[in-house]
Amino acid sequence: MIPFSPPRMDKKIADAVVEALYSGWITTGPRTKQFEKMLTAYGGQKVTFCVSSGSAGLELMLRWFGIGKGDEVIVPAYTYCATANVVVHCGATVVFVDVGKDFDIAVDAIEKAITPHTKVIIPVDIAGFPCDYDAIHALVQRVDIREQFRPATREQELMGRILVLSDAAHSIGGWYNGKRTGSLTDLTVYSFHAVKNLTTAEGGAVCINLPLPFDNDAIYKELYIKSLHGQTKDALAKTQIGNWRYDIVEPGYKYNMTDIQAAMGMAELERYDSDMLVRRKAIFDRYAEAFFSYSWAQLPLYETSTRVSSYHVFLLRINGITEEQRDEIIRGIFIREVAVNVHFVPLPMMTYYKDAGYRMPDYPVSYDNYSREITLPVYYDLTDEMVDEVVRAVVGAVEEVVR
Ligand SMILES: *Cc1c(COP(=O)(O)O)cnc(C)c1O
Repeated sequence: MIPFSPPRMDKKIADAVVEALYSGWITTGPRTKQFEKMLTAYGGQKVTFCVSSGSAGLELMLRWFGIGKGDEVIVPAYTYCATANVVVHCGATVVFVDVGKDFDIAVDAIEKAITPHTKVIIPVDIAGFPCDYDAIHALVQRVDIREQFRPATREQELMGRILVLSDAAHSIGGWYNGKRTGSLTDLTVYSFHAVKNLTTAEGGAVCINLPLPFDNDAIYKELYIKSLHGQTKDALAKTQIGNWRYDIVEPGYKYNMTDIQAAMGMAELERYDSDMLVRRKAIFDRYAEAFFSYSWAQLPLYETSTRVSSYHVFLLRINGITEEQRDEIIRGIFIREVAVNVHFVPLPMMTYYKDAGYRMPDYPVSYDNYSREITLPVYYDLTDEMVDEVVRAVVGAVEEVVR
């Protein structure tokens, strides 16, 4: 059986983790700080703040922006549940919009969904391919849209417009107009979950790029307190003489990253461009080349003159099939001992969101993408021979169903 997404694991990572364990710092400490600096240098953002997961990062930033009841947050219908669930946690309203044929959030759909209650847009770089951020920024900066923005907190007032909080759970290392994801929007959140391109087992990071008059370094300090129960001193500061007393300035969260996670992350980031992305691109190219000649295959866009993917997962679509036929093809692929997936079942189809009143016919492109989509494995240890085996399994299964 070819598995779907085993993490890359080797002695370099194991050694880094063991070193962290014996260092005595197993919670947030010097390694986390160092990893943050490395991430800042890598993505080109102003400041990076590491957290316990991508979900925690998204929620922390919504809370920081003061999102709550009565606020609307625009989210693509085609994403993982984390993107929308965090909005629900804050008590705000999720406003789903449709995506385009390249899986990214449709900017014309965003425009139609904006109301005076809209506070945040969360674009998602599905499969690692960056969204059209120039178009999204042009929209939030348009005078008529700025004029209807109704700030309710100090942060919202300073922003003076809709916040762009990108979900880059898939796209660390992707490019848009010569800039990396991480430096493209006001706030960008990475996930380092076990199946993601760069993993710390569980983990995430917030890339902070807020415009003036925000002080990004001051916000880092604020987030540090907010992610540690609102406590004014961390374990490191409290080791200093006379520094034991601390205060709680807000009922904060427990969203900090550990140095064990950071040790893994640094080992991965050091070789991410030179090794991980090189292998992932080679797998994408091999799939693209193999499926190119089949008229039933619709290949995903992953490199253009302005956008380059981080090659997270390969979203193959089969032309002219129904959802039932897609499911049958997936069964055929599994019978051939290859694990595949579907990224993603659109959220309005999920029980919670369906019961909340969202209707799938409102998101026709999301449904079309989903109904014909099969996600092929992409990971470091997937060899060329395994890629060829995946291709054979897909071709065999498709040709059984589509004649
Ligand atoms: C994985 C993922 C997340 C959440 O990341 P966690 O680190 O697992 O919390 C958010 N959005 C998308 C699109 C994801 O795939």
